Amino acid sequence: MRRKTSREPQAGAALPSVDEVLNGPAARALLPLLGRERVLTMVRALIAAKRVEIAGREGAGIPGRVGLTERLEAELAAMGEAEQRSGVRRVINATGVVVHTNLGRAPLSPRAIEAMKAASGYAAIEYDLAAGSRGSRGDKAVSLLKLLTGAEDALVVNNCAAAALLALSVFARGREVIVSRGELVEIGGDFRIPDILAHSGAVLREVGTTNRTHLRDYESAISERTSLILKVHPSNFRITGFTKTPGTAELAELARASGLTFYEDAGSGALADLAPLGISGEPVIREVVASGADIVSFSGDKLLGGPQSGIVVGREEEVERLRRDPLYRALRADKTMIAALEATLESYARGTAAQEIPVLRMLSATADEIGARSASLAARMRNALGEGSGLHLGGVAGVSAVGGGAAPDSALETALITLEHLHLSDTQLEEKLRSAEPPIISRIESGRVLLDLRTVAEEDEVVLIDAIVKLFN
Ligand SMILES: *Cc1c(COP(=O)(O)O)cnc(C)c1O
Repeated sequence: MRRKTSREPQAGAALPSVDEVLNGPAARALLPLLGRERVLTMVRALIAAKRVEIAGREGAGIPGRVGLTERLEAELAAMGEAEQRSGVRRVINATGVVVHTNLGRAPLSPRAIEAMKAASGYAAIEYDLAAGSRGSRGDKAVSLLKLLTGAEDALVVNNCAAAALLALSVFARGREVIVSRGELVEIGGDFRIPDILAHSGAVLREVGTTNRTHLRDYESAISERTSLILKVHPSNFRITGFTKTPGTAELAELARASGLTFYEDAGSGALADLAPLGISGEPVIREVVASGADIVSFSGDKLLGGPQSGIVVGREEEVERLRRDPLYRALRADKTMIAALEATLESYARGTAAQEIPVLRMLSATADEIGARSASLAARMRNALGEGSGLHLGGVAGVSAVGGGAAPDSALETALITLEHLHLSDTQLEEKLRSAEPPIISRIESGRVLLDLRTVAEEDEVVLIDAIVKLFN
C-alpha cells in the first residue's frame, strides 16, 4: 500500500501503513457503522497529517511506532465519532428563540409527528379512498385552510419562498410589479424580494421612499405594463417614527379598480391573533383575506407552528392558475409534510391549538411559569451533580425572542438559568454543552451561559438534567 517513500524523513518509517490502521480496533469498530470507503478516507487523511507533523519535527520528540499507532487509533476514533454526530439530529433548544431557523423552526405537535410517521409508508396523498381512484393532492389541508382563513381556495408548496416565486412567475412574468421601497426586504440572508422578482421574470417597479409610501405613489406607477401590486410584510425588521404605508384594503381596492392582481406576502402570518400573547405587528391571515387580497402567502413553520411549508390562500380563479402552472409541480409539498400540516391545522379547527401546538404554548408561557420551572430544574440538577462538579447554577430575569423573522420588537419576558464553571470560560462551557447527548444549545450574555426553558419542552427537562450531569460528574 505504501507509495514511494524516498522523500520521507526517517521517522516516516515508524508510521503504520494504511492497512495496519484499517485492521486496528478503532477502524474495525467504525467499519460497520460508516462503511469501508469513509473509514479508508479518514485513515489516509490522518496518516498524511501525521507525516507532515513528523517532518516538521525533524527527529526531535517523535514517538516510536507503537506510540504513533496509538495516537492514530485515538484520532480515528474521535473522527469517526464526529462523523456519526454530524447530520440532522435532535438537539435541546435552550436559547429561548422560539422559531429558531437554524434549529428547525417550529417543533411539531405530537399529533403532527404521529401523522408524519404514519404517512412515511404508502399513504393516500393523491388518492380518493371512497372512489378508489386518483384524488387531488392534499385536499384535506386545502379544505382546512379555507375554513381557517375564509379564503375561496388554497395551495401548499415547499416553503413561502416557493410560494412567492410561483405567484410572481404566474402573474407577473415579463410584466411590472409595484412594490414600496420600504418593503424591498431581505429575510434570512437568501430570500430577497428584488432577487425573487428577478428570478420570476417580473420587472420591479419601486415606489415611495424607505419610510413613507402613499397610495398615490402606487396609483401613478400603474401603466399598461403593470400586472401586480405586491405588499410584503417586513417580518424581521420594523421602521418606526415618521412612517406611512397604505393598508391591505386600500391596495386591494386600487388593484381591483385597475384590473390588477393584488398579492400580499404575509411571511409568518398568524391564523389566530397573537396580540394577547404580547406579539404585535403580525398580520392575521383571515383579516388579510377579508381585506380583499387576491392571493396571500405565508410560512407553515413560523408562527403557525407546523412543518416547513409555503401556503397560498386566495381567490379560486387565482389559486387555480397557480395549481395548473408547471412550476407548481416542481415546488409541490411532500406527503409527510402535508400529513403534519393537516394535523396541525386540525388543532386550529378543533379550537385546541393553544394547548397542542408547541410554538403557541411556548409563546404564551409567562415569566412566572418559566421561573418556577427553572428554579425546580436548577434544584434537581444541583442534587444530581456531585460536590466537585465545578458547575454553579443561578437564576436571572431576561427576555426570549419569537425568532423566525417574526415580531422582531416583541420581547417576551422570561426567567433564565445561569451556568458558570470553576475552570471553564463562558465559551468553553457553551461548547461543552453542545457536545452533550443530546446536544444542548445555550446562549452567552455578559460572561455567563444562559438556559431559557421557554423553548425546552417539559418532558425534555429530565433529558437536559441527565445530559448535563453526564458531562460534569
Ligand atoms: C419568512 C418569510 C419568507 C420565506 O419563508 P420560507 O418559508 O422560509 O421560505 C418569505 N416572505 C416573508 C415576508 C417572510 O417573512
